[in-house]
Amino acid sequence: MGIISTMMLCDFHIHTTFSDGSLDMRTTIDLFGQAGFDVIAITDHVVNGDNSIGKFARTFNLSVRGDNFDDYLATIRQEAVRAREKYGMLVIPGVEISKNYISRERSAHLLLLDIKEFVPACLDYEEIFLDAKRQNALTVACHPHNTPDLMNKDTLFLWKNRDKYAKYIDAWEIANRDDVFNVISLKKYNYIANSDFHKARHLYSWKTLLNCDKNVDAVKNCIRHNKGVAITLFRN
Ligand code: ZN
Ligand code: ZN
Repeated sequence: MGIISTMMLCDFHIHTTFSDGSLDMRTTIDLFGQAGFDVIAITDHVVNGDNSIGKFARTFNLSVRGDNFDDYLATIRQEAVRAREKYGMLVIPGVEISKNYISRERSAHLLLLDIKEFVPACLDYEEIFLDAKRQNALTVACHPHNTPDLMNKDTLFLWKNRDKYAKYIDAWEIANRDDVFNVISLKKYNYIANSDFHKARHLYSWKTLLNCDKNVDAVKNCIRHNKGVAITLFRN
């Protein structure tokens, strides 16, 4: 039996109608459960409210906020119990801290996985990383490079400032949905691959394979040590 047959199929970057995803939490979890996933993380946007882009997102309920975070977390935890019973699938609560600015050089998106308390996206990066560490949440820099999709706004801040921030980042997205980023320049850093799921068709995209036990601590350790990690293009 090769190592691949013992690896778990994982996706750590998934949006629901709690932010700008098109499917509600239950439908999303059933989709991944029925597709045979072992581990997923729900990571709705937490958008900074300190400029007009963020205010727009909050006004149209495209962001998890301080006042509905408890409801968001409770919904994930409830669904996680159902997912474990029905599909044997582990569901990890997360958020995507989304610092959106006009300048792509200033913008960055950051997954916090296994989050327990709300983290406002208007905090500065150092404060966010320290809060994540205090909560023992895993930090993942999302789509850190130039993307070929002109409709997407690039988020380059963390990559451009990697000399300063890499020490806080547990892993970088080496692939996001259809794009694979520059493997050569990333090779020194820990990596995972995610769908950045917003619609049903995004199920078919780059994913992470992990060789570890199916519990939150084992998954976090596996990503942090980045041994027994592979990526795969999941197709219909
Ligand atoms: Zn993002
Ligand atoms: Zn996302």
